[in-house]
Amino acid sequence: MRAVFRSYFTYLAALGLLLSGCATGPEPSLVEARAEPVFDGLRIEQGPPSLGCEPRAHPVSVLVLHHTAGSLPSSLEILQGKDPKHKVGVHYVVTDEPKPRVIRMVLESMAAYHAGKSAWGPLEGLNQHSIGIEVINYDGNVYGYSDAQADILFALCSEIVRRHDLRPWNIVGHSDVSVGRKVDPGSKFPWAKLASLGVGAWPLPDDVARSLARDPDLSPDRVRGQLKAYGYAVEPGDPGLRLATEAFQRHFRPAKVDGVIDRETVALLEALLLRYHGDTHRRPALTP
Ligand SMILES: [Zn+2]
Repeated sequence: MRAVFRSYFTYLAALGLLLSGCATGPEPSLVEARAEPVFDGLRIEQGPPSLGCEPRAHPVSVLVLHHTAGSLPSSLEILQGKDPKHKVGVHYVVTDEPKPRVIRMVLESMAAYHAGKSAWGPLEGLNQHSIGIEVINYDGNVYGYSDAQADILFALCSEIVRRHDLRPWNIVGHSDVSVGRKVDPGSKFPWAKLASLGVGAWPLPDDVARSLARDPDLSPDRVRGQLKAYGYAVEPGDPGLRLATEAFQRHFRPAKVDGVIDRETVALLEALLLRYHGDTHRRPALTP
């Protein structure tokens, strides 16, 4: 038994050395490597280490989902972060094979360069506050995600959510946190399915129906405040509101993503605020 433990820690030590590829910070210590998660029943493969990371200065409070817009080989190449002009990295890659795999490129104890310019609620620069998952898909607004990808995403995400005690509304897409700049993981991403299994936020149908029955207030200022209260960074003016509405719809009303404030969109938003605003972890006060 002791020999097994010793070989396990030898393996972890080797892993720590293997993953010491972050050029911009100190090597993750062996203690950190040992603290890396053990996923129940989910095999995590060690991929090529990425230079697109730095030491983490803030606790993990957000999980950001992406699509790669490229094939597995090209994505793994780019995500090694070797291009000094476009240094990127991510913690996990979910492949698009018939039996998808999870590949780890950056330790969770490090911050990876996957979100770029981004904001969510009171947080800015999400790299330092988040874990990133890239899913191989050329365009999640055009091509669906397979059931097998959704299943493995649920296994991976639920484990991350549990370990970091993430709140449902902080499981987001890149398009949610980089409004107007990004459109991934796209309207085909299985948000509803993941939420039905317990990962991420979703409005309750009864709340949506009640809001619709009340004929929700569609005034731009009110909707702007509601989007902000939920977490979206809404730029000033009509274009900013339109882009944030579009980002919201891409996540919660994928059947029609047009940036137009309509009754259904507002009912969904109100239902989400009703469901999650009461949580003691909820950050900003709901502005009128
Ligand atoms: Zn992205």
